[in-house]
Amino acid sequence: MLKLGIIGAGPAGIIASLEAKKLGADVLLFDSNEVVGRKLLVTGSGRCNLTNTRAVSEKYHASPISVVESVLSQFSHDDLIHYLHEMGILTHATSDGWVYPLSYSAANVANIFNAHLNDRGIERYLSHKAQHILPQKQGFLIQFSTGQPTVFVHKLLIASGGKAYPSLGSDGSMFTALRGLGHEIIPVQPALAPLVVPEKAVKSIQGVRTDAGIRLFENAKLLGESFGNIIFTKGGINGPGVMDISYLVSQYQKPCLKINFISGHEPALKEIFQRFAKSSMPLQSSLGAVVPTKIAAFALKSSGLRTDVAMSDLCHKDLGRIMECLSAFTLEVKGVRGFEYCQLSTGGIALNDIDPRSLESRVQPDLYFAGEILDVIGPCGGFNLQWAFSSGAVAGRWAAQSGIA
Ligand SMILES: Cc1cc2nc3c(=O)[nH]c(=O)nc-3n(C[C@H](O)[C@H](O)[C@H](O)COP(=O)(O)OP(=O)(O)OC[C@H]3O[C@@H](n4cnc5c(N)ncnc54)[C@H](O)[C@@H]3O)c2cc1C
Repeated sequence: MLKLGIIGAGPAGIIASLEAKKLGADVLLFDSNEVVGRKLLVTGSGRCNLTNTRAVSEKYHASPISVVESVLSQFSHDDLIHYLHEMGILTHATSDGWVYPLSYSAANVANIFNAHLNDRGIERYLSHKAQHILPQKQGFLIQFSTGQPTVFVHKLLIASGGKAYPSLGSDGSMFTALRGLGHEIIPVQPALAPLVVPEKAVKSIQGVRTDAGIRLFENAKLLGESFGNIIFTKGGINGPGVMDISYLVSQYQKPCLKINFISGHEPALKEIFQRFAKSSMPLQSSLGAVVPTKIAAFALKSSGLRTDVAMSDLCHKDLGRIMECLSAFTLEVKGVRGFEYCQLSTGGIALNDIDPRSLESRVQPDLYFAGEILDVIGPCGGFNLQWAFSSGAVAGRWAAQSGIA
């Protein structure tokens, strides 16, 4: 019987195990943690944003993108929803497409996965940290840095994640062994991370949470853009709106942000300016119809206007300055927070070394990959768990069904 070793019991490794076992493989699932799905437990702030109704290949950054296209054509968003429902995990989609378990409980999702691993008799080797992989004539030897005896498997699937949030187990420890086997490792950097900005520049708006349009520039060159919720913190900005473009920041020397606090509301605000041009209404109140009070006060101050200035006291130029400040608030970006604070890492196993259909290595036969260890990233909103589940299912099936050579 084919012995398939799977390193990493995160979402990718769990689903790979279940699918491979279904096809008759003898699955050995290894993880350095004491429990299965440690990171899954903290996803979506413990609510587990499982997938997104818009999870199609165009939403991902990967090169070549054909790898993502191939994986999603074999195990799509709809396939995942069906799979989860079959397992007893009911789901609910928010109006913006973010899909959660109906229980809103990541712990419940992990418990259900564990029950299925038990029922299928999948052997779990927890507290086993893989260190070396030694290719044999017809398989691999796995050596552990945690002192357990070496294990032989015919095929190996690596689902050991990236380097995000290393305290949860994914610390990039497999990359050295994989480089030793001839795999190119694209430099691993924090992604889906909060941005660091000059503390003074955002001090007065600390604590503000709002939706905004975000554009990242270097000099005049647009590097990326997104729209979403952002939160001003002490010397930083958090939230999906900035996290989605954070993977770009470490690639540039002097990036800067332009934040549009009135994205989609410019015409409405201009109409209010016109309608109340002769009114005693304070400008701050007019702005408050569209942006949080602290942002309105901040815009007045930055534009050199008194906080109690009335609409009737304003000239055309004043309103122009206010519009500019609200629609293109410019901030220097000093960097991204480190791996300890990010939800994902970019980089990892180069996709050119991978067969897009099966996710088998082109460098080392009988070696497969799934999940975040591959150089694929999606935005916030469930896209990355979808990738982990889809690639895990695909790699698990191909690894099991291709049998022993
Ligand atoms: C705080 C946080 C919140 C998140 N929320 C969401 C969300 O709501 N929705 C979403 O789509 N995505 C979310 N993500 C991202 C998501 O968790 C990852 O995309 C996903 O977990 C990747 O799955 P994976 O199976 O590839 O890797 P992981 O989940 O990282 O699992 C890899 C496993 O491999 C093990 N391992 C690593 N090295 C070794 C080794 N040498 N030997 C043995 N075992 C090893 C690790 O212990 C780990 O258990 C979040 C991430 C974080 C950090």
